[in-house]
Amino acid sequence: MFGALDVGGTKIEARLFDNKLDVLERQRFPTAKGSYEELLQALEGAVGWLDQTAGTKVDLGVGLPGLIDPATGISMTSNVPATGHTLSADLSARIGRAIPVANDCKCFALSEANGGAGAGYRTVFGLILGTGVGGGVTVDGKLVVGHNGLPGEVGHFGLPAELVQRHNLPLVACGCGRTGCYETLLSGPGMGRIAKHLTGETVDSAAIVARAASGDATMRQVLGIWFDILGELIHTIQLTIDADCVVIGGGLSNIDGLVTELSRVFAPKMLPGVRQPAFATARFGDASGVRGAAMLVAGARK
Ligand SMILES: [Zn+2]
Repeated sequence: MFGALDVGGTKIEARLFDNKLDVLERQRFPTAKGSYEELLQALEGAVGWLDQTAGTKVDLGVGLPGLIDPATGISMTSNVPATGHTLSADLSARIGRAIPVANDCKCFALSEANGGAGAGYRTVFGLILGTGVGGGVTVDGKLVVGHNGLPGEVGHFGLPAELVQRHNLPLVACGCGRTGCYETLLSGPGMGRIAKHLTGETVDSAAIVARAASGDATMRQVLGIWFDILGELIHTIQLTIDADCVVIGGGLSNIDGLVTELSRVFAPKMLPGVRQPAFATARFGDASGVRGAAMLVAGARK
């Protein structure tokens, strides 16, 4: 058996897997909003549940929403209080076994590249479109870690001038400290910003998608701009890593017909004579991140 914890801004998803990475048990715990010490206590409680449910001390991995420096293990997070801390080392010391911690988007990519929608492809880009925009790169089923743990942080590429001009897009300050990052318009809240900019109306991404599906011309236009931005981002990803397959996850991956529309929008953006990557949505849906966190230990055993 293997365990995994997926840490989110409000909850910790705990899952126990068998050796084939099929789910045996699952439980949710609230994420501590206060201090780092409270976060460690919450994680310790979740590990306790895993051990108790398994009837033994299980090997486990943790997915964290943030960047983790592969050289120092120090993380930088936005929604959980772990910035400046070495979560893997601290949790391992507390629990008494080695517990690897990885960025949640990287866990998603790892999961989808191994037994998921990206299985069988050599280079897979796992792209999360949700509250934020991020991803991970795998080659031959293994994560590309890079110098700083950055590979896949594509939400912080800058929007191209051509795209900004074409749609008269707003340049919005990003949480990373820069302005005009893809994430500011391509995330769920970003789609709302496009609508606000175009119509003056405050409307969230779920309502935009629903209204576009029911024929609302204005919301169809908003969604069309959003797809154009998504196609441009993937064009840039392809110019950088030329993936065989791009797997899309996160809340916005549930848009009806996403893969078909993306493929249509993407085709004219490519350089002449270039082949499209395979596009797919996540095989394991919302559970892909926690499955990937289990693979941090399950993979090491193979
Ligand atoms: Zn940014």
